[in-house]
Formats: sequence, C-alpha cells, structure tokens
Amino acid sequence: MEENFNTVAPSNFIRDIINEDLKTDKYNGRVHTRFPPEPNGYLHIGHAKSICLNFGIARDYNGLCNLRFDDTNPSKEEVEYVDSIEEDVRWLGFDWEDRKYYASDYFDQLYEFAIQLIREGKAYVDSSTAGETKDMRGTPTESGTESPNRNRSIEENLRLFHGMKNGEFEDGAHILRAKIDMSSPNMIMRDPVMYRIKRATHHRTGDKWCIYPMYDYAHPISDWIEGITHSICTLEFEIHRPLYDWFLSELHLENRPQQIEFARLNLSYTVMSKRKLLELVEKGQVSGWDDPRLPTISGLRRRGYTPESIRSFSEKIGVAKRDGTIDVALLEHTIREDLNKRAPRVMAVLRPLKVTITNYPEGQTEDLDAINNPEDPSMGKRVIPFSREIYIEQDDFREIPPKKFYRLYPGNEVRLRYAYIIKCNEVIKNESGDITELYCTYDPETKSGTGSARSVKGTIHWVSARHAIKAEARLYDRLFETEDPSGDKEKDFKDLINPKSLEVIDNCLIEPHLANVKPGEKFQFERQGYFCVDPLSTKSKIVFNRTVPLRDSWAKIEKKQ
Ligand code: ATP
Ligand code: MG
Repeated sequence: MEENFNTVAPSNFIRDIINEDLKTDKYNGRVHTRFPPEPNGYLHIGHAKSICLNFGIARDYNGLCNLRFDDTNPSKEEVEYVDSIEEDVRWLGFDWEDRKYYASDYFDQLYEFAIQLIREGKAYVDSSTAGETKDMRGTPTESGTESPNRNRSIEENLRLFHGMKNGEFEDGAHILRAKIDMSSPNMIMRDPVMYRIKRATHHRTGDKWCIYPMYDYAHPISDWIEGITHSICTLEFEIHRPLYDWFLSELHLENRPQQIEFARLNLSYTVMSKRKLLELVEKGQVSGWDDPRLPTISGLRRRGYTPESIRSFSEKIGVAKRDGTIDVALLEHTIREDLNKRAPRVMAVLRPLKVTITNYPEGQTEDLDAINNPEDPSMGKRVIPFSREIYIEQDDFREIPPKKFYRLYPGNEVRLRYAYIIKCNEVIKNESGDITELYCTYDPETKSGTGSARSVKGTIHWVSARHAIKAEARLYDRLFETEDPSGDKEKDFKDLINPKSLEVIDNCLIEPHLANVKPGEKFQFERQGYFCVDPLSTKSKIVFNRTVPLRDSWAKIEKKQ
C-alpha cells in the first residue's frame, strides 16, 4: 500500500475471530476480505467505515482486500456510480491493486451452480404469481405453505430454467427457488428466490441475460470464487447467514468463507440510506451527490474533510455488534483535530465593517509578520500588509457593548492581530442609521512582536482594505434540524431539512496572499473556522466552503461522559 498509516486499529471482535482462525490455521494463514458496494449511488461515511474495516484488516494482517461491485440488479446500476466509488475508495487511501471484480463476472458460474442444485433436487422453478408466493410465505409466527410447484421433476425444472434463461417467458412468469424449508422459523430460509426473469440491459453484460441472480445467492458464491476468508457485512444480514452457509455447503464447496456481521454506522442529524440521498439529489434539495452538506464521501471531500480524518473517525467509533447512532459532533471534532495540525491560519473577514485609522499616514503600507501555524513552527511565517483603511468583522464591534464584550466599542481599545492596538473614537452612520464606518486611532508604540508592554483584553482579525481580495464564503450547517430525521413517522424526512443549512456570503474579504489558492486547499480563518477552496473556485471568483466552525461541541460532550 502506498500510504503510510501510522496507526494500527485497536482490537475488536472481528479481529478476535481472525486471530482465532489464524491460530487454528482455518484458511492456511490467509486473510482475504472484500468491499462489495452496489453501484446504485455514491458512497457515504457508513461505507467509509466498511472500507476502513475491510482494507484495514487486510493491511494489518498482511492479507488482501478486493473491490467487488455487487451488480446483480441491472435496472439500478450505472457506470457513473462505479467511477465515483473507485475514486472515493482511492481517495480514502486504499488500493485494491488488480483485484477489481464484478458479481456479473460470475453469472456463468452462478448459472452452472444453479443447474447443479436443480439436479440434486435442491432448487425448483416456481410459477406462482407474486401475490401467491407472498401469501404462501407465512408470517414470523406461522409457518409458510409449500408451493404446488415445489415437487416438480428435475427434468421439468431443468427445462423451465433453461427456458427462463433463453427468454421464453415473460418477466415474472417463473422464479427459481432454493428448496429449503417452508416451516423454518427464519423466514429467509423459506425457499428463498435464487433467480428472477428481468429484461433489463446490464451495464456490463448488456442483453446477454434475462435472468438475474438474487444477492443472497450471488454473494456467498462470489466470495468463494474470490477466495474470501472473512465476509464482513452489516447486522441486517445476520438472519441471512444460515442461507449464506446453506448455498456453500449444498454446493459442496471447500474452503468456505464465513460471514461476520457488525453494526452499521448511523450519524445524528443526517440520513444515510442511498434511497434517501438519491431523493435529495433528484429533487434538487442539494446541489448534487457532492453537496458539502451530504454525508457522502464526495460531499465530505468537497466540504474539506481529509482522508486522514475519516480514517481516524472510523477507528474512533470502532466496530460493535449492536446498532447505535454516533453523534455527528464526533465527526466534526475529528476534522478539527486534523486540520488544527496542518491548516495554515489566515485572516478573512466574512461580514466587513470599514475602519479608518485616522492617525495612520495616508498611502503608507507596512508589512507585518504573521505566523502560519502556531501548532507547527515548520510552517513558517508570512507577510501581511497593513494600511490606514482596514476591515474588521461587524460582530467585533458593538455600539452598546454587552457585559464582558472584550472587542471594539466606542472609547474602547482592542488589539489588531499581528498589528497595533486601536481605539474607537467615532461611529459613522448613513441616513437610515446603519453603521457604515468607524474612525479609530492607533498606538504606534504597540506593534506586535516588538515587546510592547501594553496589552488589552481583546484581539480581533482584520484585512487591509486596499490589499484584500473578495471571495465567496459558503457557510454550511447540518442538513437536518432534528437529530434523527429518519425516525419521525409523522413527517417526511425532506420536511425536516434545516432551512439555514447553507448561507452564502459573497463579499467576504481575504488576505491578498490567498489570490492563487487552488481547489481543495484548506485554511483556518482565524477565530471563525476551517475553510476549504471549492473545486469550482477560480481566480476571478474564489469560493470557500466552511468545513466546520472552530467551536468544538464534542469536547463538552466528552467531558460529560
Ligand atoms: P444503503 O443502505 O445506504 O443503500 P447498502 O448497504 O445497500 O447501503 P451497499 O452498496 O450494498 O449499500 O454497501 C456496500 C457495503 O457497505 C456493504 O458491505 C454494507 O454492509 C456496507 N455499508 C453500507 N452502509 C453502511 C453503514 N451505514 N455502516 C457501515 N457499513 C455500511
Ligand atoms: Mg446493499
């Protein structure tokens, strides 16, 4: 693997199983996992957990991890999704090398195995209608009813199954079912469907097939073909495990992979199901799959998340056997932790208020030293220009200050970061009474870094009016107002969208040395938050996405725990 990961994931119940298997030499010392996305949407942070888990295990055990597209359902799958999935897995820092597979690669083999099961009396063609099949399934407390087609002869089953494959029947006319047990307390085991007829063009096999295998049948066999040892999936598949094992054992396959389930990731204030994400995208509630408010990997990337922060988040949340919801504040905390170490600090004024320093010489510019990152001296210093007219944040001035307001108000002094102490003498207003400008004076004896003895309580950021550059800042907040937008039975999740999830400020002012920023570059805007240059940002229109504000609500939560 190219990247150097300096953390080794802590142990968990999956690693315990693998350790045991290595001890007993169950797979001749091999550890082989896979990440099996269905290409019907973009990957989200929940998938990232699964990717980190599967590729992380392969990395730590000197094993292998395959990328396998689970493309058994032709109508929903698209090439765009395949491409985005590859890009996202790579971006997260993982490499499947030459092991990129598709479940559709195995359609021939799956078909042969189905014939074998029919020949051994373990599968049959059912011609009941969908409604009849449903009625015969029974309920969790009542056993199901056997289909009248259940005891068809092997010859008839073979003939019908060939006919299904050869397009002799309408969609839905027949299905192939495994012959297991209609009275099993586990409803999954009540003669599950293996194949259905579906005339749809497949993104890889085109129109070659008009029958397609079901996930429950295709998955264990795909795992076996690829030599997977540990097939890790989410908890909802726990009740499918007997079926996973049934196919492998009834086909007399050796070196069988084993399925292990873990709890899927749920995050507060967001939705994670691909169906819901697709709905948001298609209804135009967000700008696309990479909208920075979405929990998709591409959205998080555009928002300014780093692969390191997402990997570290995955490790922090660990793997559990019981479902739960993780506070999104932990994700936000993780990106702050990462960017705090490496994002250069800059000054940017989001809502500018003009200040004229009346005793500073007109036309004069002074170069001041500014530190790029107090957390990392190796990031050095830069020079920022200071002049008679500057902009400060509107919020940093109050005509009538509340208690403990240590910023600027009439008669009060404040320090300008890396510059001087200034004092507000006069407030200028327009005809409607809005404040348009402040007249201040500076104390030339108080230049930062000169060991000036005088200090004041507040320090604020600023930019020089003549030198500053205009930029757009997009301030993102959580997409949903409620903690569990999927949990509200009364309301559609789309009605719970936070109307303030995006605020666009198009006249924000930034330090001049940011004129040549590149898409993806990350900064801390001092006192405000972390910002990332949008992929569509240009030199003539610089756009910053706010990743997170500085205030960390997780620190508070952690203290309470
Ligand atoms: P969704 O419910 O969002 O449609 P899915 O499970 O259908 O997701 P797949 O493409 O089939 O999506 O998932 C690929 C892999 O990612 C599977 O192994 C699945 O278990 C895992 N995965 C999906 N969602 C999560 C999640 N929220 N947390 C952890 N793993 C997940
Ligand atoms: Mg799935």
